Amino acid sequence: MAELIDHPCVQHKLAIIRDAETGHKRFRELATEITEFVCYEALKNIKTKEVIVETPVASATCRKIDTDIVIVPILRAGVGMLEGILELLPTARVGFVGLYRDEQTKMPITYYESFPHQIKGGTCIVIDPMVATGGSTVAAIDILKENGADNIVVVCIVTCPEGIKAVEDAHPNVRIYAAAIDEKLNENKYIVPGLGDAGDRLFGTLQ
Ligand code: URA
Repeated sequence: MAELIDHPCVQHKLAIIRDAETGHKRFRELATEITEFVCYEALKNIKTKEVIVETPVASATCRKIDTDIVIVPILRAGVGMLEGILELLPTARVGFVGLYRDEQTKMPITYYESFPHQIKGGTCIVIDPMVATGGSTVAAIDILKENGADNIVVVCIVTCPEGIKAVEDAHPNVRIYAAAIDEKLNENKYIVPGLGDAGDRLFGTLQ
């Protein structure tokens, strides 16, 4: 299941990040800003506990977050969303998954994984700007589950029906939060209209 963050502030930033004329510095800033908004929504039902705080005037009944949070960027483009989530959740822990696509089988192959043990019992936020075919997202969730995670959400910038279906079929209990749900994939597996290659645009590696 996917949830679209349709707030005007997010959609305004999305219009700028999509623009082919937006350079890598501004693209990175916008990826951070959009991620912060999308993640804010994704965490609206996170576990909290009641705490009593003494204000200068009286006791106040407040709520604090009551779960370990582990952010899991999918290398490399997911790293471009990390700063935005850490702005929101400065004490979050960070794990990493590195995947590449086998040219023959087209299946994702893991070349790197590293997680804090808090993925067990905590809340894992998988981040990847583009959930396109959903192959990498599904593989990252598979790895997290194999390592004991059972509370996982996906935060992206743009997804499409093909990616949503792939994640839904493999992991029906994992929700995707996105700033855009676009029309389709093209023959090169790029999201249309999308925003191009997010990794290249983030890191300035476009030809
Ligand atoms: N990855 C990207 O960076 N862009 C797409 O459109 C699809 C996958």
